Amino acid sequence: QKAGLTLVPVDSVSANNTKDPAPTPRVKAAIVMLARNGDANGAVKAITSLQQRFNDRYHYPYVFLNDKPFDDNFKAKMRDAAPHSELLFGLIPREHWSYPDWIDQEKAKVARKEMREKNVIYGDSEPYRHMCRYNSGFFYRHPLLDEFEYYWRVEPDVQFHCDIPNDPFRFMQENNKLYGFTISLYEYIETIPTLWKTTREFIKEHPTLVRSDNAMRWLSDSPEQYNRCHFWSNFEIASLNLWRSKAYTEYFNYLDKAGGFFYERWGDAPVHSIGAAMILKPEQIHFFNNIGYYHGPFHHCPVDQPALADLCQCDGADNFDMNGYSCTSKWFKLFGGGQANIEAEKVR
Ligand code: GDP
Ligand code: MN
Repeated sequence: QKAGLTLVPVDSVSANNTKDPAPTPRVKAAIVMLARNGDANGAVKAITSLQQRFNDRYHYPYVFLNDKPFDDNFKAKMRDAAPHSELLFGLIPREHWSYPDWIDQEKAKVARKEMREKNVIYGDSEPYRHMCRYNSGFFYRHPLLDEFEYYWRVEPDVQFHCDIPNDPFRFMQENNKLYGFTISLYEYIETIPTLWKTTREFIKEHPTLVRSDNAMRWLSDSPEQYNRCHFWSNFEIASLNLWRSKAYTEYFNYLDKAGGFFYERWGDAPVHSIGAAMILKPEQIHFFNNIGYYHGPFHHCPVDQPALADLCQCDGADNFDMNGYSCTSKWFKLFGGGQANIEAEKVR
């Protein structure tokens, strides 16, 4: 047994799962969901899918986070959906879901009104901004996550299309991967008008925090320009230590001071993506080709890979990867990750 791994107790593995291979040792990882009490039914749908496809054999713990206390209905539904997993329910500290003192709330209000008039998606929403800021810079600091090294972000109402016979957390650990994605696309520029300018200022002030062999050429064709490519962060399998690093902490703090989470509508997806691309080598970022996934309105469906056809229930015609609005073909061109990833993920 390797250091840092704990064995799944044999008696906690459900006996009727006979088609599945024996589980391998678990790594220090949790499935993390940010949700409201009103998301309970959508959360059950998502978790039921993930349990069937993967976690009924591994029993990874779940961490649920909310800016309000979870009610008994929510907790009971989650227990039913994942009866063999440890469930942790966390309240988000107020300081992580409120305005920092340097933010001009009047200015933020005007910005929301202007975005509403321009019909920017979630442009007028105050809670959405707190959520994006929380996912960008705070969730990994929640005390319930202290004991973990990796997380799998899951949102209410997502679906998993394919059986996942091997443990993606273990794959991450054994292959020194720090960030994993399934879908990528272009961001709406109206939500991030000054994000790139702010990022460039950060890089200028902290050149040593950006690694030279980074992955930024995927999202920036020239230093002046952000091409708007980002990993769709409603799915993430990643290292918590990536976000806990000095480089990312400094980057997040710099963005937070600039105010764009409130004066614009910076999403955690472009912030995580630029952060990861700046701090990591391309080889440390993994395209999880084997994990069929749906978050409305997009699918990642790998059934054009014959080896996976019997593991997946989705239509390859729905696969978003080669859509003109996806950035994944650009990732393939630069760094590979098609058939090679299918093979790599099969190895335990
Ligand atoms: P979208 O995917 O960008 O359309 O945004 P979602 O509505 O799916 O929200 C992203 C995630 O944050 C989901 O896991 C939601 O359940 C969660 N979320 C969004 N707003 C709130 C909020 O105000 N409070 C809490 N606790 N969770 C939220
Ligand atoms: Mn969502």
